[in-house]
Amino acid sequence: TLRTLFPYTTLFRSIDSGIDYYHEDLKDNIWNNNKEIPDNGIDDDKNGYVDDRNGWNFAYDNNNSYDDNSHGTHVSGTIAASSNGIGVVGVAPTVKIMALKVANSRGFLYTSDVINAIQYGVSNGVKLFNCSFGSKDFSQTEYDVIKSSNALFMCSAGNGDINQIGLDNDGLVKNYPASFDLPNIISVSSIDKNGYLSTFSNYGVVSVDIAAPGGSIYSTVPGGYGYKSGTSMATPHVTGVAALVLSEDMNLSPIEVKNRILKSTHKLPKLKNKIVTGAIVDAFGAMNLTRSEERRVGKECSQ
Ligand code: CA
Repeated sequence: TLRTLFPYTTLFRSIDSGIDYYHEDLKDNIWNNNKEIPDNGIDDDKNGYVDDRNGWNFAYDNNNSYDDNSHGTHVSGTIAASSNGIGVVGVAPTVKIMALKVANSRGFLYTSDVINAIQYGVSNGVKLFNCSFGSKDFSQTEYDVIKSSNALFMCSAGNGDINQIGLDNDGLVKNYPASFDLPNIISVSSIDKNGYLSTFSNYGVVSVDIAAPGGSIYSTVPGGYGYKSGTSMATPHVTGVAALVLSEDMNLSPIEVKNRILKSTHKLPKLKNKIVTGAIVDAFGAMNLTRSEERRVGKECSQ
């Protein structure tokens, strides 16, 4: 199945168009496969991928996951750009990103490559996946691999119809993987700067969980910085918060991380009856909830 990155225009790991891993704001946060000796032509860790130093390029079947599109680098900056006094700062500025390049330079990707990328990530211990892509075509294999993964998937709700007018994902037209009815998926819609659902953003009071800023987002692009809009840009804000929560307590299950996020939101009147929570993601709230749960558990253990 051919699908698209949402246009307009990825631990804690990004299935996307790759990453500019030389970028001044990202280079310190790129995942490194320390079981692989770089560029020796040997599959040292015997995982089926030769010299997979930072991830893999599933689109072109090689070890160079550099971003030839800019979408993946933009998403990555929102999750994990360094707090180094230059450029921008990601939601979780010290987490590592694995570049699972699946989209080609034009932003198209195949479901079979997505499935291989998920399996690669899972086998290397990835617990969070950012999925800023989608299509209306259901894949049973993709459903199964996500379901059995023990990871949490932040998935874009989608950017509406051909005129970029948001659609109801609870209706006949779905947007996968966001529309898979699975407990380890968070489906993310976009708000604009006024707290309204973005005109392009899909929604769904049953199937779309939460919203985040997705209009004119400033982040990293290859060699610099730029603005992009879309549910693709909203989703990595939630992935960043998931990374913060998980960093606080690495023993949390995917469902527990999801529950922390969905129980600590910031309600917005304009989102009521549009999405499940009627709210946007709240990093401070999610961290407070996680820390108060830890204190409660700590007390129980000491009694
Ligand atoms: Ca290898």
